[in-house]
This record gives sequence, C-alpha cells and structure tokens, in this order.
Amino acid sequence: MADVRDNHWVLNGSKTFISNGIHADLVIVVARTTPEGGAHGMSLLVVERGMEGFERGRNLDKIGQKAQDTAELFFRDVRVPKENLLGELNGAFIHLMTNLAQERITIAVAAIAGAERLLEITTQYVKEREAFGRPLAKLQHVRFEIAELATECAVTRAFLDRCIEEHANGSLDAVHASMAKWWATELQKRVADRCLQLHGGYGYMTEYPIAKAFTDGRIQTIYGGTTEIMKEIIGRSLLA
Ligand SMILES: Cc1cc2nc3c(=O)[nH]c(=O)nc-3n(C[C@H](O)[C@H](O)[C@H](O)COP(=O)(O)OP(=O)(O)OC[C@H]3O[C@@H](n4cnc5c(N)ncnc54)[C@H](O)[C@@H]3O)c2cc1C
Repeated sequence: MADVRDNHWVLNGSKTFISNGIHADLVIVVARTTPEGGAHGMSLLVVERGMEGFERGRNLDKIGQKAQDTAELFFRDVRVPKENLLGELNGAFIHLMTNLAQERITIAVAAIAGAERLLEITTQYVKEREAFGRPLAKLQHVRFEIAELATECAVTRAFLDRCIEEHANGSLDAVHASMAKWWATELQKRVADRCLQLHGGYGYMTEYPIAKAFTDGRIQTIYGGTTEIMKEIIGRSLLA
C-alpha cells in the first residue's frame, strides 16, 4: 500500500518469495495507490537499495535452485520519490498484463530446453547401463519410455516455436502464453520424474545431473503463475 505525501509515496507491506531479492539493487513493487481502484488502483514503484525502511529477510532455504537467492522483502514507511513511479499511475495491471506473456514464454522455453537435455542424458545412460547382461536400451519398455518422452518434447517444441514467432511479431496473447507455460513446465516435471526412474537408484544420488534437475525444475509449475492459475486464465477466456 502506498500513500502519496508531498513529493513522495509512503510504501508499506511485504512480499515473500522474490527471486534474486538479496542481490537486487532495484526492485519494482506493485503497490496499491488508489484503495478503491481494484485492479486499476495499483502502480509500479521502483524501490532502491538503501532506502530507509526497505529491508530484506533471510535467503530462503529451497529444495532446488540453490545457487539462486530467493528473499522476503519488507517495506516500512519507505519514502519513494514520485519520480520513481514506473509507467502510468494506477497502470500496473495493464503493464503487467502486457509483459507477463513474455515472462511465461521465457519459463516455457527453459522448460522445453531442460526437458530435451534430460532426455539426451537419459538416452545416453540407458545405452550404457546394463541390467541382466544387456543395456537397458534393449528393453522394449525403456525404448517406449524414451519414444513417448521424445514425442511429447517434439510436439511441445512445435507449439512453443509458434508462440515465439507470435511473441516476436507482437501477437502473443495471455491465453497462448499461459498454455505454453503450464504445458511445457508440466512436461518438464514429467520428463524429470520418468528420466530419474530410468536411472534407478543412481537417479536419486545428487552427484547425478538428473537428481539435481528433478529438484531444480520442480518450481517451474509454481512460479510465474501456477499451472492452476494458467488454466484459470485459459478457461475464463473460453467460457466467459
Ligand atoms: C523459488 C521461488 C521464486 C519466486 N520468485 C518470485 C518473484 O521473483 N516474483 C514474484 O512476484 N513471485 C515469485 N514467487 C512467488 C510465486 O509466483 C508464487 O509462489 C506462486 O505464484 C504461487 O503463489 P502462492 O505461493 O501464494 O500459492 P497459493 O496462491 O497459496 O497457492 C497454493 C495452491 O493453490 C492453488 N490455487 C490458488 N489459487 C487458485 C485458484 N484461483 N484456482 C485454482 N487453484 C488455485 C495454486 O495453484 C497452488 O497449487 C516465487 C516463488 C518461489 C517458490
């Protein structure tokens, strides 16, 4: 919540889970600037490191993505100069709607790239690992697993390529970005799980890349808008 006083805003509130919140020198806060304005009463305020009342909590302990920090941010009577308003007053909703599609497509691209890499690692692994005197790759079940995952990745990539083209020419809408986000990240999760299974016990060992990918990738269906929220956006557009 931010109240306007003279030539600055007075910002109060907090936000849990901010990627790179510890390292960031500059954070963009979505603050309510017109209490009765609903979705159209929020603005983007740029808060700078060192502003009085702007504090960070601890670096949160996650199950994956250990190299990246995730922080809690606290704002107590932070005086934000009026010129730190980003974009239009009460325009946060529109600004976010315009740019969220890009964030979602970025997450989807990381998801398909991650899934394809896991498939590559696992394809190599099942060719090398022997069980009952022959490589795992000789077992029909294993070949079917790899075939299914490869097909799902190829189909997903085709849809994503179309979304990237749309993004490049400025026509990607929120619905298609949401479809790409939930579908590609759920695929990544499925691929990580099934590839880990194909590694057997070694898949559970942190020294194997598949184990790290399993925990690192788990967040993908949660941040940037959960799978359920993506489906809400798509469902609403179809059933309004
Ligand atoms: C590592 C990490 C980094 C993050 N980085 C950032 C960041 O940089 N910036 C930022 O703004 N946020 C960030 N987040 C926050 C993230 O976007 C949220 O955690 C996520 O959107 C889910 O919100 P929530 O945690 O409040 O879950 P909740 O909203 O409590 O959801 C709990 C469950 O209920 C479901 N649910 C909630 N509402 C509905 C609904 N209407 N219909 C159906 N199901 C519903 C959700 O899908 C979920 O499964 C980060 C989170 C994590 C864990």
